[in-house]
Amino acid sequence: MPTSEQKIVKRVSELVAADSVSSPDPSWDSSNRQVISHLSDYAEQDGWSVEVQELEDTANGKANLIATLGDIRSEQKEPAGLVLSGHTDTVPFDAGGWDSDPLRLTERDGRLFGLGSTDMKGFFAIALAAVNCIDHRQLKRPIYLLGTADEESTMAGARALSKSDIARADAAIIGEPTALQPVRLHKGIMMQAIDIHGTSGHSSNPDLGKNTIDALPALLAALDQYRHALRTRFHCELLSVPYPTLNFGCVHGGDSPNRICGHLSLHSDVRMVPGMHFEQVEAELQSAIASIGEQIGLTVSMRRLIDPVPAFEQDASSALVQAACADSGAEAIGVNYGTEAPFLQRLGLDTIVMGPGHIDCAHQPDEHLPLAQIQPAIDRFSRLIARYCL
Ligand SMILES: [Zn+2]
Repeated sequence: MPTSEQKIVKRVSELVAADSVSSPDPSWDSSNRQVISHLSDYAEQDGWSVEVQELEDTANGKANLIATLGDIRSEQKEPAGLVLSGHTDTVPFDAGGWDSDPLRLTERDGRLFGLGSTDMKGFFAIALAAVNCIDHRQLKRPIYLLGTADEESTMAGARALSKSDIARADAAIIGEPTALQPVRLHKGIMMQAIDIHGTSGHSSNPDLGKNTIDALPALLAALDQYRHALRTRFHCELLSVPYPTLNFGCVHGGDSPNRICGHLSLHSDVRMVPGMHFEQVEAELQSAIASIGEQIGLTVSMRRLIDPVPAFEQDASSALVQAACADSGAEAIGVNYGTEAPFLQRLGLDTIVMGPGHIDCAHQPDEHLPLAQIQPAIDRFSRLIARYCL
């Protein structure tokens, strides 16, 4: 293994060992500060200037990392420079399902196994190595390394970014695992609970209460009708599931066969294709459930379970998409999962998603990064850095 690759493996191993699970479940959630601290050290060793952005509204004192190399902001008039962006957190894990300790990077069969190895701690070590392939003295425009918090839970880190943090860049690559294929669009996600409010009572007499389970078929029928309407209204050919989906995820309600079920909550998600806006979907859902409430004579209400993540689309003709496609010799694709891309794009950055590793092995036991993808990723990133920053 060449020395440069050994350095990458050492860094990935330190990052994987630093538990940074983010989860709405407090028993799982942990701080990302150890990862931020490692990344700060690496960046400073390599000559970057480092800023740690504290996130006040997160549990466990989380932070974003914003590192800059080539600080020429004062001379720069137009936006210029490139952001290399990743998230510092991981999903929770089921240690019993792993063949090795998820928090201990383990090499076998030409792959690096560990939690976050591919999604996406490996990316940081690779991005830093790519930047070191160019002569830092030749930089004409800055490079930014962005490490966000809570991507896997609330996206609080990306939501907190403002224009000033990475103001002068004009493009961003999010290094999520796409096997280095450029991704220029993905679906958005919203999750909501719909509550039916009835009245409990003794089951021996239906008139003693208002049963919310009896109302469920009418609600499901209305939502299913809306789901079909969405499918005919919106379409995106670049996605393997080319239409919006509405999934009924779980139902909570009731406590005993001999009681009238007084309250019921249906949780669902909507996966939006580009061109759909969550404000509109929420308004349409609200209107559908209001008329169901009237029809069944019960109060029906809706609440968000998460802050929505918008759908994302970067135009195929953008300079970044063109450059990434020319370099990879592949077309840009769309994916069904969400990323932080819409939050970087709204800051005015041309944005794509492209990084080493395979999404198929993320979020599950034996997540791994193939060693064979490290050098191609370094080469890809360093060529794009040269194009944007030299
Ligand atoms: Zn990820």
